[in-house]
Amino acid sequence: MKIKDLFIKDKPLFSLEIFPPKKTSPIETIYSTLDELVKVRPAFISVTYGAGGNGTDNRTAEIASIVKNKYGVESVAHLSCLYNSCSDVDETLRRLRDCGVDNILALRGDVVPDVPILNDFRYASDLVRYIAKSDIGDFDLCGACYPEGHVEAENLEKDVENLKIKVDAGATHLISQLFFDNDYYYDFLDMAAKKGVNVPIEAGIMPVINKKQIERMVTLCGASLPPKFAKMMQKYGDNPEAIVESGIAYAVDQIVDLLSYNVDGIHLYAMNNPYVVNKIYSAIEKLL
Ligand code: FAD
Repeated sequence: MKIKDLFIKDKPLFSLEIFPPKKTSPIETIYSTLDELVKVRPAFISVTYGAGGNGTDNRTAEIASIVKNKYGVESVAHLSCLYNSCSDVDETLRRLRDCGVDNILALRGDVVPDVPILNDFRYASDLVRYIAKSDIGDFDLCGACYPEGHVEAENLEKDVENLKIKVDAGATHLISQLFFDNDYYYDFLDMAAKKGVNVPIEAGIMPVINKKQIERMVTLCGASLPPKFAKMMQKYGDNPEAIVESGIAYAVDQIVDLLSYNVDGIHLYAMNNPYVVNKIYSAIEKLL
């Protein structure tokens, strides 16, 4: 089933994102995580694609297939393009088609130092256009978006104009980068609407569960930290149990506000952590 058909007016989607286990662990280790995660009945589960990954050596397609075929939950396979050629992409499309995965989050991917970029695709919109025109399978295509602007973009306005190119190329819905200040998200939604980005947009929420994770994420994506968040990190950052509980409470607070604003959906960066997902879901279940 295509994710675009799951968006219903006034009924927000609740979806999850997971990552494949490390190559040194057997792929079956994902089962115990999924056994728990599916209990929150996500609309879909998306599976990340290794940074700098090449379609031929990656577990994303296999896990997306397990989510769909073993657990009966719709899946979205992430696929990035800076380090893939057209024939690598074709091979991934055949694998996804053959295992019944209907949805792809088409990404450019981050630049990995010292790994030579292939020149078949420059932007995510090139990948979206390529897959939309391909006769291998019939995929629904999702794209990434950035409430505070992508770190490489000149400014937010230019980034949203580039986002419109991705939507015009065939992305039928969008998932946002994490953010900790909902006001940025609301301003972004306004600007996206003004620039003609008229597809459903899910808000990406990352619960903070340790200090290092958040320092790394913020350096990578440049999300602003509101004073309330910074205070929480200062008070509980060095207490591993307290930071998990306060991170969950912060995420719940953000989600309640987003749902009151009638957002199209919440995409929870689940980090393969059923405890955190369960606690957040039980707090917001009745609001969905
Ligand atoms: P693009 O949409 O191509 O944008 C990249 C930059 O190029 C932006 O600054 C944009 O403004 C600019 N741009 C776009 N089009 C044009 C144009 N036509 N002309 C000029 N400039 C343009 N990374 C992974 O490696 N694996 C994952 O699984 C993964 N999952 C993600 C999931 C989500 C929900 C999000 C938000 C990000 C994810 N990423 C993942 C990270 C992503 O790959 C990086 O943020 C990357 O730097 C940008 O990817 P993109 O698809 O948004 O790129």
